[in-house]
Amino acid sequence: MSDLPLRVAVVGSGPAGFYAADALLKSEDPRVEVDVIDRLPTPWGLVRLGVAPDHENIKAVSRAFEKTAAKPGFRFFGNVEVGSTVAHEELLQLYDAVVYTVGAQTDRRLGIPGEDLPGSWAATAFVAWYNGHPDFQHLEFDLSHERVVVIGNGNVAIDCARMLALTPEELAPTDTTHEAIDAINAAGVREILMLGRRGPVQAAFTPPELKELGELAGAEPVVDPRDLELDPASRRDLEADRDRARRNYELLEEYAAREAEGKPRRIVLRFLVSPVAILGEDKVEGVEIVRNELVEEDGRIVARPTGETEVIPAGLVLRSVGYKGVALPDVPFDERSGTIPNDRGRVEGAERTYAAGWIKRGPSGVIGTNKKDAAETVELLLEDARGGKLNRASVDSTQSLEALLDERDAYYVEYEGWQAIDAAERSMGEPLGRPRVKLHMWEKLLETGLKKITR
Ligand code: NAP
Repeated sequence: MSDLPLRVAVVGSGPAGFYAADALLKSEDPRVEVDVIDRLPTPWGLVRLGVAPDHENIKAVSRAFEKTAAKPGFRFFGNVEVGSTVAHEELLQLYDAVVYTVGAQTDRRLGIPGEDLPGSWAATAFVAWYNGHPDFQHLEFDLSHERVVVIGNGNVAIDCARMLALTPEELAPTDTTHEAIDAINAAGVREILMLGRRGPVQAAFTPPELKELGELAGAEPVVDPRDLELDPASRRDLEADRDRARRNYELLEEYAAREAEGKPRRIVLRFLVSPVAILGEDKVEGVEIVRNELVEEDGRIVARPTGETEVIPAGLVLRSVGYKGVALPDVPFDERSGTIPNDRGRVEGAERTYAAGWIKRGPSGVIGTNKKDAAETVELLLEDARGGKLNRASVDSTQSLEALLDERDAYYVEYEGWQAIDAAERSMGEPLGRPRVKLHMWEKLLETGLKKITR
């Protein structure tokens, strides 16, 4: 092997990207230099722009990423989009290997009539809006309606329901955008109705998140005890479970037994119902749902519609049925799964190309899941490097990404630029008792981040 360090581009600066960068920078043979590239001027991906703002303790994982960024051999290139600013092929000319850690950037579709009516939103857009993602700040969520329907039973659905239910006092110490805080405080929402297509035992949300719904200052969870009556297969699964399903079920039983406290907002959890249409002339006026029964299919418990329908009036619908990966130009992509086809992280049908995180395995698991996932990918990459499989002859070591970007007049935000953004946000937050006030507009982010470029 040559003495030159291996040069790796990691595309996407969320948890998978940083865990991959960290694993690469730990390697001694070969030594590795890592450039982390992101289309946004800010790093941390969903830790900054997805994790709910009232979950400050979860966001604290970014401190570990800061340590990675401080390691020799690390560089950050924000505001650089692979596919438009720079092509995949160009990265292959500049680097020995490219690792895609771009996550899952869009929402899964329900495929029902009315899905695109004004007032029907992907939960992912709502999350990006309240978290200050600069691409989503022009959106206007009409929160004047009494009932919001949240479709789906995962943790994102719970995040949306809870965020809509927070009181001004609960929102004040978070880094939710000012606009979202004002809108939620002024909202006329009285009921947030979560719809699960399967039963309480199959719910995807996790117990700590479900528990929080019972601890809110201005909202109470409501569960109909009849929704907790189980079919034999669910009963069997519940009895075999020692963890998520059991703890969820216990919490739901507790909520079903609670007396109404008369808090201003209610979070109603319903099970065994699927939306069949979102109704309305020129905006959302309601959701038609069908009652489901559970049947076993290929060893899995699935929902089957009974034909019994009902119409629920509602002015706002948040569709929270999962994220989906988006194809990158010139990089293999499997439309069905929304992932880059790969074998344990080695991308199939593309040389010197790897994947980690949600774009590798789909949108599942918690932040920490990506550590193991990225380690697996990096291990194979290093194995390929040691085995001489990263055909370095095609890499032009006299060229660099910064030179290419300079040639194109493409401005990029270095890590120092992000640190300037971070410092500005924290200093605005401090007098308000908030962790930060996010810069959430492109111009302001770039103005602050680019100032630090010294070249
Ligand atoms: P998720 O956990 O996969 O949940 C998706 C939900 O949508 C499931 O309840 C699923 O039901 C339902 N669904 C799918 N298709 C549907 C349809 N056509 N009609 C009705 N319902 C449908 O996805 P997520 O909530 O987007 O979360 C993504 C990942 O991030 C998860 O791993 C989650 O745990 C994680 N996350 C964690 C936290 C946290 O730790 N606090 C916060 C947010 C997100 P079925 O089960 O029946 O398919």
